[in-house]
Amino acid sequence: MSDKQKLVMVGNGMAGVRTIEELMKLAPDRYDITIFGAEPHPNYNRIMLSPVLAGEQTLDEIVLNPLDWYRSHGITLHTGSKVVAVDRVKRRVRAEDGTEAAYDRLLLCTGSKPFMLPVPGNTLQGVMAYRDIADTQAMIEAASRPGHAVVIGGGLLGLEAANGLRLRGMDVTVVHVGDWLLDRQLDQSAGRLLQDALQARGLAFRLGAHTEALLGDEAGRVRALRFKDGSEIPADLVVMAVGIRPNTELAEQMGLLVNRGIVVHDTLQTVTDARIYSVGECAAHRGTAYGLVAPLYEQAQVAANHLAEWGMARYAGSQTSTKLKVTGIDLFSAGDFMGGEGSEEIVLTDPAGGVYKKLVLRDDKLVGACLYGDTQDGSWYFQLLREGASLGSLRGQLMFGPPAERAH
Ligand SMILES: Cc1cc2nc3c(=O)[nH]c(=O)nc-3n(C[C@H](O)[C@H](O)[C@H](O)COP(=O)(O)OP(=O)(O)OC[C@H]3O[C@@H](n4cnc5c(N)ncnc54)[C@H](O)[C@@H]3O)c2cc1C
Repeated sequence: MSDKQKLVMVGNGMAGVRTIEELMKLAPDRYDITIFGAEPHPNYNRIMLSPVLAGEQTLDEIVLNPLDWYRSHGITLHTGSKVVAVDRVKRRVRAEDGTEAAYDRLLLCTGSKPFMLPVPGNTLQGVMAYRDIADTQAMIEAASRPGHAVVIGGGLLGLEAANGLRLRGMDVTVVHVGDWLLDRQLDQSAGRLLQDALQARGLAFRLGAHTEALLGDEAGRVRALRFKDGSEIPADLVVMAVGIRPNTELAEQMGLLVNRGIVVHDTLQTVTDARIYSVGECAAHRGTAYGLVAPLYEQAQVAANHLAEWGMARYAGSQTSTKLKVTGIDLFSAGDFMGGEGSEEIVLTDPAGGVYKKLVLRDDKLVGACLYGDTQDGSWYFQLLREGASLGSLRGQLMFGPPAERAH
């Protein structure tokens, strides 16, 4: 028997496997590693489900760690195996299929669950969320027949779903409660430009629209969506993309503290049990559970450092930025791009050219950026924003990109 410590990871997704990859760099021989994943797949790039739906990539192309990777690193992988119980005293986990494993350290990376609007008809056939390979395959299958798809939610996920279904030949209407698209990522001017571009691609929109119910036929399949104002639109497929909730079911059952996610310290150890770590969308750090990959990868680095017993890293939270993966549409936003009292705005608009740029400054610092149509300088603005340095003489030239590039 090996005298290594045992590390068990629950959730074979992007954040978890990145943590293991980082750990392999720091301490490849410290643990016997066992991973449980509820999905029947090795780790794949969930972000790239949208290009798969749009027909731009295949499922094979988005696999991040093929089964060989686990084998060659001596990792025991149980796919299609959902962990349903953890005994924190005996330090054992048990999966639904009866598989058990003992741990010295446990890593919970259970991700999120899509939120389903609590409206009548939300369990009808043809009503679904957009989260994993199975959902993507179901949407591709539904789009093999002509019909009308309704996507509820005009956020990043909803627009990517709508774009993919449209490219596969469906008529698509996006239903959104906000007054403009991506209203948490863009201001109204940029949101309108985006809407024009998507309309030109054949998408239809109902904005400021509240869903009252989904209506079914006699066979229990969805056939229409009814709004609060009584109007209806036909629907052969309804995709809900109205938000996610940290998947904390198992953690709660184990008695870990959960508050907007599994509550963790700066070391990514849970506040309840120092043997148990949590990384990814399921974790709440200083009150925030992130829903984008970049911060989760930062968490992964820190968690790996502690699992390797280097004990040197601290996670202090992340700034996030936004991009939409609809080919041919460039947008970027970060920070406090809405501005408001106490802030200044520098704005460049070229509606005919489809370009809009807004930079928000406060106390001589860049605090937010919202770019549509020309996002070339997005990463530079993001860097300035994260550094929080005073702009000084840069201010006057800010709209025109980094000084070194202008010199060419
Ligand atoms: C279509 C789509 C597009 C996206 N696009 C972007 C983007 O452009 N940019 C970006 O930054 N982010 C994007 N995201 C979000 C990004 O994919 C997530 O932030 C990231 O995947 C979260 O990683 P995670 O490891 O926390 O969770 P996940 O990747 O969801 O992994 C969690 C895994 O744990 C498994 N699991 C849960 N409970 C158990 C259990 N009890 N036992 C065993 N296994 C369990 C789940 O089945 C899942 O496989 C997108 C998401 C989707 C769905």
